[in-house]
Order: sequence, then C-alpha cells, then structure tokens
Amino acid sequence: MRPHHYDDERAIEAINPQYNARLVRRVDQTSDLATFWVRFDGEPTPFDAGQYMTIGVYADGKLWQRPYSVASPPEEASTEGYEFYVRLVPIMRFTTLLWRLPIGHEMRMIGPKGRFLLEPDDDRTHLFVSTGTGIAPFISMMRQLALQGRPRRIVMLNGCSYVHELGYRELLESWQRDRTYPLTYVPTVSRPDDPRNAGWTGHTGRAEGVVRDVVHDLRLRPEKTVVYICGNPDMILNVESLLLHAGFPEFHVKKELYWPKGKVATMPDGSPAPSGAPVAS
Ligand SMILES: Cc1cc2nc3c(=O)[nH]c(=O)nc-3n(C[C@H](O)[C@H](O)[C@H](O)COP(=O)(O)OP(=O)(O)OC[C@H]3O[C@@H](n4cnc5c(N)ncnc54)[C@H](O)[C@@H]3O)c2cc1C
Repeated sequence: MRPHHYDDERAIEAINPQYNARLVRRVDQTSDLATFWVRFDGEPTPFDAGQYMTIGVYADGKLWQRPYSVASPPEEASTEGYEFYVRLVPIMRFTTLLWRLPIGHEMRMIGPKGRFLLEPDDDRTHLFVSTGTGIAPFISMMRQLALQGRPRRIVMLNGCSYVHELGYRELLESWQRDRTYPLTYVPTVSRPDDPRNAGWTGHTGRAEGVVRDVVHDLRLRPEKTVVYICGNPDMILNVESLLLHAGFPEFHVKKELYWPKGKVATMPDGSPAPSGAPVAS
C-alpha cells in the first residue's frame, strides 16, 4: 500500500523566524517507524532522561507540533542532537509532515517537559513496560545509566504487533548478551498467527497479557520493584490495574500516556485509520 505521507500535499515552510533547530539525521526501521535526530541551532537545552521535547514545522501557514520522548541520553544533545523514535500515523497531521522532511530542514523545538523520571539512587528493580514507540524514554534512561557506569536491574517488556516493529531490539539484546546491564529483555508480539511473525519463538500476546507471568516468573516483589509504563493508554491502564491487584502500591507505578484514553486515529471522513494500526499493541 502507498505510504500515507505521499498524499499529504500541504506546503511545508522551509524558512520561518520561529525555527530554532533542524533535522540532522533519520533512520527508517519500517515504512511507518523511524528514528529522527533534531539538533538546536544554538546551545542545547538540558533535559533529564525520560522527558519529552515538542517538535514542529509550519505548513500552510500553521504550526504543526507534537511532543516526543527523547530516546538519546542528555549527554549527546550538543553533538548528535535529540533522538526521537516515531510511528507514522496515517492521518494528515504532524507525522505525515515529518516523514516528508529532507535532512537539514529547519524545525521548531521546545522543551523539555515531563516528570516521567528515574528516582535518584533507586536500587529497586525497574520494570519498564511499553508498547511500540513507548520504549523511547526507557532507552534514554538506560543509555544515561550506562554512560554514568551505574546500570540498574531492569526488566524491559515491550509489546508490538509484529517482530519487525520491535524497536531497539539489537541494542537491548546486545546489552543483555554482553552484560552491560543486569537486563532481562522481554519482547512480545500480539499477532502470533500473522505470517509476518512466522518463526517467532518468544512471548506472544499483548503486554498486559504477559506482564503477570513476567512478575511471577522473575519473582518481582512489589516492595522491591518500581514500575514505569509508557505508550498506548489502554495498555497502561490495564497493566496498572493488574499490578495494583498483584499488590504493587500505586506510588511504585509511574505512567506516560501518548494520547488520551479512548482516542482512536480516524480519517478525515471519520472512519478508522487503516494499517499502521495506531491503536494496536
Ligand atoms: C508526552 C508524550 C510523548 C510522546 N512521545 C512519542 C514518541 O516518542 N514517539 C511517538 O511516535 N509518539 C509519541 N507521542 C505521540 C505524538 O505526540 C503524536 O501524537 C503522534 O506522533 C501522532 O501525531 P499526529 O499529529 O500524526 O497525530 P495526532 O493527532 O497527534 O494523534 C492522532 C492519533 O494517533 C494515535 N497515535 C498517536 N501517537 C501514536 C503512537 N506513537 N503510536 C501509535 N498510535 C499513535 C492516537 O490514536 C491518536 O489519538 C507522544 C505523546 C505524548 C503526549
């Protein structure tokens, strides 16, 4: 199927006095998942791992901007820029513009914002639960801890529809293999019967279906575990309620919702957005 950004014909402004940053690099993972690096033209703004920046461009006279969790560590902001891991949502708002931007294109970037942060000197096991691009803030946190030489015990549960959508898989597998981290990486695919997942021998099912087994099998104790959940709001609320029932106190659970609960991507005529399945986990 023709990727949706090709149908987006809005005129993107190359020059605007509000621009203060530019797109410096891009790596495509699939036709609708990509990593983008945006760098400030001037001094970078300091941020904490787990926070988000808001990036945007002007098109047809209007600023289109959205928040994105930073996936890179704060230490790289002045050199590499800020790394964002983004899904193309097949409706004409911001991501269809982002997909059309050439490298070097100017952008507006503001921030940081957000309180989805690591606690200082927290020696509890960290259970990171995400769907899709919700993995981004955890990658920033882990990269920062690695750079500081202070890795923490981490269990990383990431759910996607398809194996090829699992973000940062190689990095996480290599960290696990070479013991850079005391890390248990638990990827799960929610559509095991789809031919695109043929040969997959790992976990299957949605993150909320797998999390209870993970807690049980790895013997994660509520009083010694801090839980961070990020991405799809329905998944977040389901995982949170499962964990609260399993005895995890509310203040041990931190959440970052990427869009309001119950909001499904729709096309301009009101029909549900096709593939890319924005709301699937
Ligand atoms: C704090 C915060 C951090 C965020 N970080 C990221 C990030 O790191 N990577 C990222 O891809 N998005 C992230 N988002 C979502 C992002 O801001 C945009 O909403 C998204 O990129 C879609 O933009 P849009 O303008 O095309 O559509 P929008 O009008 O913003 O969203 C339309 C619909 O698309 C769906 N949708 C939005 N985001 C996603 C997604 N990531 N995956 C699947 N479906 C989605 C939802 O149903 C939403 O209602 C974050 C959101 C918040 C609030």
